[in-house]
Amino acid sequence: MLNELKYDILIIGGGPAGSSLAYFLSRKNMYRIALVEGKPWKDVWGKPCGNAIGAHHFAERRLVEPPSEAIKQVVNGVEIYSPREDVVLRAYGKGFIIDRTRFGQYLLKASMDKGVEVFLSSHAKKLLIENNEVVGAQAVIDGGEKIIHAKIVIDATGAASPLRKQLPPHLPVAEQLDPRDSDLAFREILEIGQDIERPDFIRIYLDQNVAPGGYWWYFPEGRNQVNLGLGVQNGVNNPDPRTQYRKFLLARKDVQPVLKVISSAGAIVPTRRPLDSLVWNRYIVIGDAAFTVNPVHGGGMGYAIESAYCSSLAIDHAFEKSDFTVNGLWETNTCYMPNIGAKQAALEVVRYFLQKLSNEELQFIMEKKIVSEEDVDILSRKAELKSDVIANIQGALSDLGKLFRGLKKPSLLMKLKKLSDYMEEMKKLYRNYPSTPNGLDAWRESVKALVESYRREFE
Ligand SMILES: Cc1cc2nc3c(=O)[nH]c(=O)nc-3n(C[C@H](O)[C@H](O)[C@H](O)COP(=O)(O)OP(=O)(O)OC[C@H]3O[C@@H](n4cnc5c(N)ncnc54)[C@H](O)[C@@H]3O)c2cc1C
Repeated sequence: MLNELKYDILIIGGGPAGSSLAYFLSRKNMYRIALVEGKPWKDVWGKPCGNAIGAHHFAERRLVEPPSEAIKQVVNGVEIYSPREDVVLRAYGKGFIIDRTRFGQYLLKASMDKGVEVFLSSHAKKLLIENNEVVGAQAVIDGGEKIIHAKIVIDATGAASPLRKQLPPHLPVAEQLDPRDSDLAFREILEIGQDIERPDFIRIYLDQNVAPGGYWWYFPEGRNQVNLGLGVQNGVNNPDPRTQYRKFLLARKDVQPVLKVISSAGAIVPTRRPLDSLVWNRYIVIGDAAFTVNPVHGGGMGYAIESAYCSSLAIDHAFEKSDFTVNGLWETNTCYMPNIGAKQAALEVVRYFLQKLSNEELQFIMEKKIVSEEDVDILSRKAELKSDVIANIQGALSDLGKLFRGLKKPSLLMKLKKLSDYMEEMKKLYRNYPSTPNGLDAWRESVKALVESYRREFE
């Protein structure tokens, strides 16, 4: 007979998603909460990462900002470099390069102080499913097998999302990741023997030779430390990001001399729109496990927090109504999908479009200022191509007859216009996300048709 434990809420995974949910829920002091995390205290939030997060995520969700000991660098903006590195778009906005483990420990400690029971170095092996609902999980806690019962189980296990695979496969919430909708990313944190110019600007480089289907980054962590890495599209026979890193990045003048490699690791990043539904009966999935990552830049910490916030609202209301079914938890979807989901679905179209561009085309778009600094800002905040972009495209098109006859650019510019249309259509669908589970099947069909259409268009 296995030892049995009982809670109101069981959170599996104590990364950005799971620990911020524990933090949100614990503020109410109303629930018995257990959080099970595979890693020990010294490694919490230990997934390799670029460590960059926008400050707005904290303000919008009333999550405490990282304390000073968890901030490695305050960021004032981002610079995006063209393939030849001669055109730079600079967008302003406050953010942080954080020490993930320190911030993770800070959030977990605050939750524990409010009564959350955190089981570290412990592992949830199996979801317990009875009569079409998740009733708990089987876990190894402190080396011993336990059955944990809970009214709601939260899956915050990250991109590999091992537990979701145990759900009935026909459920929207059980959809698996197509490897092509993900990046393989690798990064090192280097101590370097030179002073970094403008350490308050993170840098993103577009170059299909170095990072095919992705980008490479140079994120200063102070004056003499850099988080240097890249992501390449997975599932399409691209070269290994580690090989690319050693071949192209490590040799660069702006990291020489390397005094010390502080950390070296890689992992997978989902780059698709979120799962069509984040809930089932007595079950919610958040963070990377639900693909809540920005599909263009791969930033997922902020959206792990956002999805945790939406689920915390749904959980509060589910307890008020004592309804833990898919209906009772649906608010997780109606909070996330019409807002952040809409933006991420539109950015999935942008990602697909960008992955098909050559270096020459990327260089052209940046050089001709078809996309300006302001557009980058609007694109990242609202997932919109501003009307100016369309005007710029039309202006460039009218010159093209003379300037670029014989080159592929007219079709590229037409495609940019199409891109803008698809983004708008996608956002419209997500803004009309069904208010109850009844409308989900029809809505999914519409999304599927639109995805197939934009993929045919940009193939
Ligand atoms: C190289 C790289 C660079 C990145 N750069 C950035 C960046 O600069 N900015 C940004 O915002 N995002 C970045 N990301 C993405 C970001 O790391 C993730 O989006 C974020 O960590 C997701 O948080 P999460 O809590 O959903 O998942 P995770 O961080 O993966 O946390 C999941 C947790 O669940 C635990 N777990 C898993 N299974 C079990 C189980 N069965 N039982 C118990 N515990 C379990 C794991 O130990 C882990 O701690 C990057 C990713 C990579 C790979």
